[in-house]
This record gives sequence, structure tokens and C-alpha cells, in this order.
Amino acid sequence: MSLTLEEQTRIDLAATFRIIAHLGMHEAVANHFSAAVSPDGKQFLLNPKWMHFSRIKASDLLLLNADDPNNASRNDVDPTAMSIHGQIHRLLPDVRVVLHLHPVYTTAISALENPTITPIDQNTARYFNRISVDTMYGGMADTTEEGARLAGLLKDNTRLLMGNHGVMVAGNDIGVAFDDIWTLERACQILVAARSTGQPLKVLSDEVAEKTAQDWEKITDFSKQHFEEMKQLMATIDPSFMD
Ligand SMILES: [Zn+2]
Repeated sequence: MSLTLEEQTRIDLAATFRIIAHLGMHEAVANHFSAAVSPDGKQFLLNPKWMHFSRIKASDLLLLNADDPNNASRNDVDPTAMSIHGQIHRLLPDVRVVLHLHPVYTTAISALENPTITPIDQNTARYFNRISVDTMYGGMADTTEEGARLAGLLKDNTRLLMGNHGVMVAGNDIGVAFDDIWTLERACQILVAARSTGQPLKVLSDEVAEKTAQDWEKITDFSKQHFEEMKQLMATIDPSFMD
């Protein structure tokens, strides 16, 4: 029996919550992932307010309409998530998935005066000239204006390093977006570790960094397979995410 787009998206997004919790990249019962299920992006799935990622099942995900004014008053909808994810899906129909996290190393880099992801290895080079930086942190965002502003920043770049806050990765494939937010955290961990030695970094040349980034862009099937393997692992540990 083949699954509908919504059914498959529910399973893949639920798996992503479980994987991210398994990897310790979540923040308490905060952070949100969403995925569009209609061609115009207005119908989208979102995790319910304050439910731990490691408990989320496919059937727990809320199906919301970005234009519905009643969403903000629902007890199971986090208003910050509604204003940000709802606006992004409404304004950018090509964005099929939005992942937002505060992973430790990515957030540490985001809090530096100069939050550049310096290319010093294969992982950091993946983001060479390929990540937007937002330096406008102004407290917890719960306005549609803030959502529209972030959508504007995501328009030309699927990756947004949110200064003093965390990261947002958007895309058209859940598996690719998962692998991207994970590799970014790994890149930042390597950068923080290298910087913590206090010794000068041996920074890759622009040519090598650019070539490495282009090589990454040719292997999205690697990213998809990473996600499939992690999904298999989750199914072995606790298959209830598929319920
Ligand atoms: Zn946040």
C-alpha cells in the first residue's frame, strides 16, 4: 500500500524529531520542525507545543493552515513557531521543510562577534560562502513580521545562522535538510575544538574551500542515505514514531 504525501511526510518528520533527540541536538521541549503538505505550502505539519522530540509520533504532528487566524490561540500550538514557520511556508512555497534548533556548537559560533564558519576541513568547507547570518536577535520572536523577515533571509540561502540564537535550515527534502543541520553542527564542533587549542588555524584557500563545497553539492544522495540509515536505526530502537 502506498502512502499519501501527508502520511509519508508525517513519518519522515517524526523520524527527524527522534533522530535529533537521539543525537542530543534538541533544546528541552522547545525548537520546531515543519513540513509543507500542499503545493502552495500553506498546509503544513508542525510539532505540538512542548512535547519532547523523543516521544513524537507521526500522528502527533499538527496539520495547520498558515492563513488560519485561530492557530495562535490554540493551546497545542506554540505562537513563536506559528508566526515563524507559518510565514515561511506562506511566503516561500518552494520550501518544503524548515528545521530550527539551538545545537551547542552551532549556537556557540552564532554568538561570536565574527560568526564566520572558517573553512578548515571538509565539513566546515561545505558552508563556504553558503550560509546567511542574521545578527538582529531581539528576544523570543512571536510576530508575523519577524517570520516574514526570516523568510526574506531564507529566500536566497537555505541555511541561516541566527546570531546569538541558533540555526534554521530550509529545503525541499527532509533527509537533505536533516543531514545539513547535522553536518553544520559537526562543522562548528570541529571549528570550536580547533580554536580551543589557541593555536593559529590553517585555513583552506578559497579555491579549495569552494571546490569542496561544490563537491558536497553533487552528493545529495549521500545526505538522503544518511537520513535513511538513521531512520532505520530509530526503527530498531523504537518504531513508535511511525504510528
Ligand atoms: Zn529558537
